[in-house]
Amino acid sequence: MAKISSISSLGEFGFIDEISKNYAGAPLPLGWLGIGDDCAVIPKDTENSWLITTDMLLGSVHFLPDLIPPRSLGYKSLAVSLSDIAAMGGTARAAFLSLAMPKNTDDTWAREFMQGFSDLAAAENVSLLGGDTTASKNDICINVAMMGEAPNMSIKLRSSAHAGDIVVVSRPLGASAAGFNMILNQKLENSAAIRAHHEPVAETRLGAWLGAQNDVHAMMDISDGLLQDLSHILRASSAGARLDITGALIHPAASLEQALSGGEDYALLFTVAPDAFAKLVSNAKKELGRDLIAIGTLTPDAGEYDVFHHGKRVKITKLGFDHFA
Ligand code: ADP
Ligand code: MG
Repeated sequence: MAKISSISSLGEFGFIDEISKNYAGAPLPLGWLGIGDDCAVIPKDTENSWLITTDMLLGSVHFLPDLIPPRSLGYKSLAVSLSDIAAMGGTARAAFLSLAMPKNTDDTWAREFMQGFSDLAAAENVSLLGGDTTASKNDICINVAMMGEAPNMSIKLRSSAHAGDIVVVSRPLGASAAGFNMILNQKLENSAAIRAHHEPVAETRLGAWLGAQNDVHAMMDISDGLLQDLSHILRASSAGARLDITGALIHPAASLEQALSGGEDYALLFTVAPDAFAKLVSNAKKELGRDLIAIGTLTPDAGEYDVFHHGKRVKITKLGFDHFA
């Protein structure tokens, strides 16, 4: 009898690996980059490339429709794609929005959703170029596809980290996961954490700025949790990591676990040549008013993953979010 096993034993990332190995269609022309990074890359002219990303948000899975204001949901739907463009070192230009809604969806809800989406699009200079609209039997489903662009020199891949690089995060983590818990438990007093969950800020300015820094090697955004997402850089770059987590990484509203594995932070995670790190920190402060958080270094031992918190080893039981786990 054939063995039947579910998609959950393969895991989200195991399935994506299989897709990229066996089902990716035509071979890629020179200069194109397909499955495996925050965006696909298609050359635009000799010096610049288009960046393309698509993300789905499904009601009851990514959001609870009764608990998120429609304006926030519209904002968030665009922010998650802006974050992927920023993670490549690029600038967002255009979006396509596909929406499936149950027939009885309130038209005020739909208009407020669109207002949140278009307010952020206008603020980020992104044009909505098209999409698709259909009825759904049950849940709301939102898909945003986005195009951005970057000078080829600025594009940061998950695969270009070097052993010895400093691992850096753009802001404290865990607020979104903490906010989500508060929303579920109807403890609504911590507005910063709730806002971080409902209206995550994509690092659009910082991402393009980091793209222009030659000593920034690999970069991605943190959508599934720091440890999970760093594991993608480690795998793509055949490196290991030793992390020393301090209070600076943990958002005041969050626990250590939420900061390491919470997900939906949409901060940037990147690696920097060690001799360039001090200058990068001072320039980020001077030019953008931003504090960067160093959390450890990359080692040459592929697969090694050691995490310490105030000198004590953290036992890693759960990396972060996998849709089928
Ligand atoms: P992100 O969190 O940055 O959006 P994901 O973890 O969702 O990235 O996806 C990782 C990579 O796998 C991306 O390059 C994405 O385009 C690709 N990918 C995910 N699902 C599919 C799919 N069903 N078919 C083809 N590529 C996919
Ligand atoms: Mg990403």
